[in-house]
Amino acid sequence: MQPVFRFAPSPNGFLHLGHAYSALLNAHLARETGGRFLVRIEDIDTIRCTENRVTACLEDLEWLGLDWEQPVLRQSTQFGRYRATADVLAARGLLYPCFCSRNDIATAAGQATLRDPDGAILYPGTCRHLSDGERAERLGRGEPYALRLDMVAALASIGARRFGWQEVSGARLENQTDITARPEAWGDVVLVRKETPTSYHLAVVLDDALQGITHVVRGTDLYEATAIHRVLQTLLDLPTPRYHHHALIRDKEGKKLAKSLASTPLRQLRAEGVTAGEIRKRLGFD
Ligand code: GLU
Repeated sequence: MQPVFRFAPSPNGFLHLGHAYSALLNAHLARETGGRFLVRIEDIDTIRCTENRVTACLEDLEWLGLDWEQPVLRQSTQFGRYRATADVLAARGLLYPCFCSRNDIATAAGQATLRDPDGAILYPGTCRHLSDGERAERLGRGEPYALRLDMVAALASIGARRFGWQEVSGARLENQTDITARPEAWGDVVLVRKETPTSYHLAVVLDDALQGITHVVRGTDLYEATAIHRVLQTLLDLPTPRYHHHALIRDKEGKKLAKSLASTPLRQLRAEGVTAGEIRKRLGFD
């Protein structure tokens, strides 16, 4: 099967060197493995992902010398698809409405603030325990709500299967390691936000499947989130891509780049006279 890679930025700001590394690595691996390379715009946050930022993002990638297949999938055009899948999961009794604000969550969690793998307060399950009557009443009142995945119910519906994924590495991603996932560490994740008819987790899983992505190559910041993605793929009977979570960007000598440099927008470097060739070289892609 021909490998398919993607770079999937959320243009809620300008792309920086960290993005450049991830994009160049995906394109490089596609070339090395005779695969395809796609760019997907993850602009579900339609307030922060302005038209200017989306345009700037694609311009920066072009400036870097990247070339990808058209058309580019923009998640902001796909809300109906995401919502339809959320409805399917809801009909299976796996989602519940959550009316909580951030403050409500912090208050309910109290002193014993357990954290999820991202360091956020673990949702204490407040709205999972609402009575049918109270839920109906609050829905009837038009109170805004998110939809959360009932993680215990989801894992039970999948059965006692051991979960995980194949983490691949090596010049052509030829080495494989079996990773055991810990989805329960996330608790009841949000699949549909209050203000957006999806969430990152739902959209990313559906689009990786839609686009036939075989290799998801992204930063280690999303390593733990892969557990959630595996749960959703299993619930929805979607194919499982292989994963490679790359370390934070390093320069050619393997030294970690200073945080300030790593987060400098590419357009700023460009305005300062840095060339795309210099950036590719610095990141080890010359
Ligand atoms: N859109 C996500 C981000 O920019 C990355 C999605 C992914 O690679 O899975 O953080």
